[in-house]
Amino acid sequence: MMINKILEFQTADMKLFRLEKELRDSAEYKKVELYKKNIAISADTVKKFDLESEDIISSYDRINENIAQAEKDIGELVFAVKSISGETERELNEYEFYLKKLEKANEILANNEKEIDKIKKRIAEILANTSKLLLGIQDTQEKKKQADAEFDKIKNAKKTDADALIKEIARLKAELPADVLETYKTVKDGKKLPVFVKMVNKGQCLGCGMDLPVGMTSKLKNPGDYSECPNCGRIVYID
Ligand SMILES: [Zn+2]
Repeated sequence: MMINKILEFQTADMKLFRLEKELRDSAEYKKVELYKKNIAISADTVKKFDLESEDIISSYDRINENIAQAEKDIGELVFAVKSISGETERELNEYEFYLKKLEKANEILANNEKEIDKIKKRIAEILANTSKLLLGIQDTQEKKKQADAEFDKIKNAKKTDADALIKEIARLKAELPADVLETYKTVKDGKKLPVFVKMVNKGQCLGCGMDLPVGMTSKLKNPGDYSECPNCGRIVYID
C-alpha cells in the first residue's frame, strides 16, 4: 500500500529534519552564527569608513586648489597694493578696493585651512577606528575558528545518522509518485509537520483537530485513502 511507503518516507524525513534542527539550535551553531554576524557588521563599518575616506581625499584636493588660488590672489593683491602710492583720491579708492579683496582672499585662505585641519582630524579618527575594527575582526575570526571546530565536532557525531537518513530518503523518494512528493514539500514548507496525519474519531484531522466535511470523509473508504484537510492543508489518511 502506498500510504505505508509515504509514512516510511515521512518518518525518515522528519528524523532528518529534527536532526538538522537540533544542530541549528545547538549552542555551538549559535556561537558560529553570532561571530559571523559580528564580523559582517564590523566589515561593513570598515567599508563605510573607506568610502568616507575616498570622499574626504577627493575634497582634500579641491581644498588644496582653493588654498593655492587664494595664496596666488594674495600675492598679486599685495603686489598691486604696494604699487599704489595713495596720493590721489582715485588711488585711495583703488587702495581700499584691493584691501577689501585682500581681506576676502585671506578669509578664503583661513577657511580652507580650517577645512584641512578638520579633514586631518577626521582621517586620523577614521584610521584609529578602522584599525580597532580590524583588530576586532581578527579576534572574532579566531574565536569563530574555534567555534567552527566545536560545531564540526557535534555535526560529525551525527554524520553517520544523517547520511543513513539521506540515503533512505532518496531510496523512498524514488519509489513515490512525483505529485505526492510535491504535495509533501508544499505542506512541509508551510511548516506543517507531519504532513500526512491519520483521520481520528471517525472524521477528525489529527493535525488540527477540525471535523472534516462529510463530503470528504465519505470518499475515504479504504485503508490508505487520503485527502487534503481543508482547514490546515495536511493530508489526512485512514488506516
Ligand atoms: Zn487539519
